[in-house]
Amino acid sequence: MNDILHIIDKQRAFFKSQKTKDLEYRLSLLKTLKVEIFANEQVVLDALNKDFKKSGFEGYLSEFGLVITELDLAIKNLKKWVKPKRIKASLLTFPSKDYIYQEPYGSILIMAPWNYPFLLAMEPLIMAIAAGNTVVLKPSELTTNTSNVISAIIKKVFPKEVAMPVEGGVEISTQLLAQKWDYIFFTGSTKVGKIVAEAAAKHLTPVTLELGGKSPCIIDDSIDLKLVARRLVWGKLLNGGQTCIAPDYIIVKSTVKDKLIEVLKAEIIKRYGHNPKESPDFPRIINERNTQRLAELLKNTNVVFGGEIDKNDCYIAPTIVDEPDLNSKLMQDEIFGPILPILTYDNEDNIAHIIWNLDKPLSLYVFSTQTAFIEQTIKKYSFGGGVINDLLIHFGNYRLPFGGVGASGMGNYHGKYGFTTFSNQKPIMKRGNWYDPSFRYPPYKGKMSLL
Ligand code: NAD
Repeated sequence: MNDILHIIDKQRAFFKSQKTKDLEYRLSLLKTLKVEIFANEQVVLDALNKDFKKSGFEGYLSEFGLVITELDLAIKNLKKWVKPKRIKASLLTFPSKDYIYQEPYGSILIMAPWNYPFLLAMEPLIMAIAAGNTVVLKPSELTTNTSNVISAIIKKVFPKEVAMPVEGGVEISTQLLAQKWDYIFFTGSTKVGKIVAEAAAKHLTPVTLELGGKSPCIIDDSIDLKLVARRLVWGKLLNGGQTCIAPDYIIVKSTVKDKLIEVLKAEIIKRYGHNPKESPDFPRIINERNTQRLAELLKNTNVVFGGEIDKNDCYIAPTIVDEPDLNSKLMQDEIFGPILPILTYDNEDNIAHIIWNLDKPLSLYVFSTQTAFIEQTIKKYSFGGGVINDLLIHFGNYRLPFGGVGASGMGNYHGKYGFTTFSNQKPIMKRGNWYDPSFRYPPYKGKMSLL
């Protein structure tokens, strides 16, 4: 740890040298990063596969490709983003020219989770560097192969005083969190998010917390259920269900529940075969502990499809649970695995009863063709972001901010929003000197009546 503390000091000194504020320097770092990432494409995809049997296609679609998009975006737009933004002046402060300067915070701590280990470490890194900060990045200790690749890439591209990886578990994280940072960007569970917020509060360090939760998916009786099943099976089973914005559970109109279950079963078999364990496209649960956790969630539930568990292989089959108890652990904890509980509603109060009994989710999905129902649903509930008639893909548009609300997080990023997250918005007003009325200066006697 002493070595790490020494490098953090060096990063602070380097930041003060003003070098990271140089646009060309930042661009050269990002361009070198791009070359190195491209050179490691297969290495990254192999590492993801070794860590939890994630297929190359999914690895590219949901991690590698998104990192490249973000990097290209930053390289293309950085010159524009760093410019002070001219803001309309106010009559009250006339004459003035007003600006917002984008100021890097300084030293940033980024803590990443294991579930999209490459994407969720690299994306904040790219924007923190683009914004002119120095970075200490702690990847997840659970995906050691990917974390090793991330560390190797960072070490090759960045001088230590600009960016440094620190691998390790809770002990290292705890020591890192005890340091004084200028900003902490954390992605992970709500439970650890609270630990991070507490540590940050000691130094009044601003934080972005990208957390999880139970994201509902509401389906009414007006929509083509085969289309729903196609998108739902993809959105739930991508990454083996270990996605922060995966639909956690379904609330379907009771009259179409049986039909929905039938089409879901057929769709799972179509995509992953009768034995998904043999499918090269179905990832594993990250470790034995989580496999055991998911197995516990299934106890005393009405499994109507799947349910096979092989703890030695960290395998849980795609599983459908019919009408679990709202007070069961399955309906209280974030599932984070390929288990899909199905609840029903007859009227809108039934939906509210389910959603309002849980914390504000990271996402909400609604499948319907009824505009009024859709509008009222997305306005009624508070959640981080969502999709109408599909799942997950709001993550893919970098023009949309991505983040949670309440227990699912605070702050947001993606694209320009990421750059803004890592920049202090510094308002600057330049006063004109040619006009200086005496109104604001004392003595004030008699001026009240002029207001
Ligand atoms: P986690 O909270 O267990 O770990 C995240 C990071 O915190 C890791 O780097 C880990 O080493 C560190 N950590 C773990 N325990 C700690 C402790 N006691 N003190 C200090 N640091 C600690 O999360 P995870 O299991 O890696 O990821 C899964 C969770 O992340 C899910 O809840 C998921 O919803 C959430 N998630 C959110 C997003 C998002 O963008 N909102 C994205 C991916 C995952």
